Amino acid sequence: MNPFIELGIRHDIVNAISELGFEKPTPIQEQSIPVLLTGSNDFVGLAQTGTGKTAAFGLPLLELLDFEENYPQALVLCPTRELCLQITNDIKNYAKKMGNVQVVAVYGGANISDQLRQIKRGVQIVVATPGRMLDIINRKAIDFSKVKFVVLDEADEMLNMGFQEDIDSILSTTPEEKKTWLFSATMPTEVRRIAKKYMKDPFELTMGEKNTGNVNIEHEYYIVRARDKYAAFKRIVDFNPDIFGIVFCRTKIETQDIAEALIKDGYNADSLHGDLSQQQRDKVMKRYRDRNLQLLIATDVAARGIDVNDVTHVINYSLPDEVENYTHRSGRTARAGKTGVSISIINAKELGKIRQIERGLGKRFVKAEIPTGFDVCEKQLFSIVHKVHNVQVNEPQIEQYIPRIMEEFKEMSKEDFIKRFASIEFNRFLDYYKNAPDLNAPLEEGRRFERGEDRGIDRGNGSGKSEFTRLFINLGSVDEFNRGDLLGYICNQTKISGRTVGKIDVKGVYSFFEVQNADVDKVMAGFKEADFKGRPVRIEISGEGTSENRGGGYPRREGGYNRERSGGERREGGYNRERSGASGGFRDFSGKRKEDRPERRRRF
Ligand code: AMP
Repeated sequence: MNPFIELGIRHDIVNAISELGFEKPTPIQEQSIPVLLTGSNDFVGLAQTGTGKTAAFGLPLLELLDFEENYPQALVLCPTRELCLQITNDIKNYAKKMGNVQVVAVYGGANISDQLRQIKRGVQIVVATPGRMLDIINRKAIDFSKVKFVVLDEADEMLNMGFQEDIDSILSTTPEEKKTWLFSATMPTEVRRIAKKYMKDPFELTMGEKNTGNVNIEHEYYIVRARDKYAAFKRIVDFNPDIFGIVFCRTKIETQDIAEALIKDGYNADSLHGDLSQQQRDKVMKRYRDRNLQLLIATDVAARGIDVNDVTHVINYSLPDEVENYTHRSGRTARAGKTGVSISIINAKELGKIRQIERGLGKRFVKAEIPTGFDVCEKQLFSIVHKVHNVQVNEPQIEQYIPRIMEEFKEMSKEDFIKRFASIEFNRFLDYYKNAPDLNAPLEEGRRFERGEDRGIDRGNGSGKSEFTRLFINLGSVDEFNRGDLLGYICNQTKISGRTVGKIDVKGVYSFFEVQNADVDKVMAGFKEADFKGRPVRIEISGEGTSENRGGGYPRREGGYNRERSGGERREGGYNRERSGASGGFRDFSGKRKEDRPERRRRF
């Protein structure tokens, strides 16, 4: 017998979900469906996204409501428009073979009249984000007096987003005796509090240990120097040719910067952040879902509710402040029983934060090494080999060219042909990664960098025991700065001590200066929104020294990831990049810097 039938789900629903590929219940479905089907319990389910939560509450709702009646009987509240549409769609799919099931999605950023019209026509299940729901309630356009079930999905997210008051107001319009089902990935005290407030003696279900996150996620961290972060990140991406990832940054600016740099370097990437219009967000998400984007660079808020299957990696380009946010980020991978990797790229000072997250999750993270250039080349080579092996040949289309192709290769042995074929991609990686430096930062930074004399300045303490980051500033001698003026300007603007500033190089329209690593954030913050004579002042971490840092990275192949699907769209850009990229290889890599680095290079 179909296991869903055994759980008590009726045939027409089981038929519909079988068509969706649901053969057996996920663990949360197995445990919650029998409880929820009784219709007589409040319920708290601690479960990650991607575990099959929607069906866990959606299927029981379809069993419990009276679809002969056309008034709201169930209200599902969730944090984001994406999730709202997803849930609505899922429930409609489960109900495909039932008669008269009316589900309406109510969310902000879309035409309210359409939603009002649908509600007026008659609806049994309302799936809503809190803000728009409250708006509709305030217009007296909906009657929740006969609601039997309220589902609070991703309750922790809703609270994070400040929906507590809206939820209170919405729930006050529903009857006392309704049942409330709450799902949450994490159980911070605020969620505990609302569970207590809205529920009587709820049935509690914890999938896995509290806050441990999904067991199918591996957690890794890499320790790099601040200035090598972007290069290290690209190496990790190159080492995972089939990566389909979400990269988390802390700020909107950072998401844009990273996405821009990646695009410039030929990767299929785009950013998702709060300043995008709904239409722009939808466009980015569609490209990502369709896999025309390989990397989605997002802020925590913008990525809430993103529900894309088969995300292979979550990359924490910057660590989040809260353990809870880490859980949410990493939960975007390893959905629906798949496995995934959550990677954090940190500097040595952030190790404490990793330990804190480890404690929060009750899980040990693996310290991984940034792959060497050799490792990347090898990985890419075999990726090409596997692709060639597995490619689907379009016989009718290619047939006409076969004689000409055969003619071209008639003198060549099979071995030679294979070697050449594999070399097409491999050579480019070799070219880019030859002499690639080791990007792993030592844990004890101080001992390795005693280069005070190099900088030609007195460091005050004489020991030169800290590492410096070289920064770029878009002001120089044309702005009438000399070294002393610039030092004064920097100190004044950032409140760091002049004694801690390293070498200053004043050029024409720009300059470089060194500050201690520990001061980088302070300097960045000090110049945020600064202007000089009406011109915005721009500070950047200087990538001078390695071409990996500077961008102009490894020339990706045309259209990059999945170019079969993206078709000709990116072909031209990709090709150009390929050419310009080649000149940005390691040829510019300065001899001096090479000496500074511990050698882990391998020659080919
Ligand atoms: P959810 O946690 O509800 O967002 O579900 C995550 C993904 O798992 C969705 O794509 C569902 O379609 C899929 N899914 C849910 N339940 C099952 C099941 N029993 N068998 C196979 N896939 C499922």
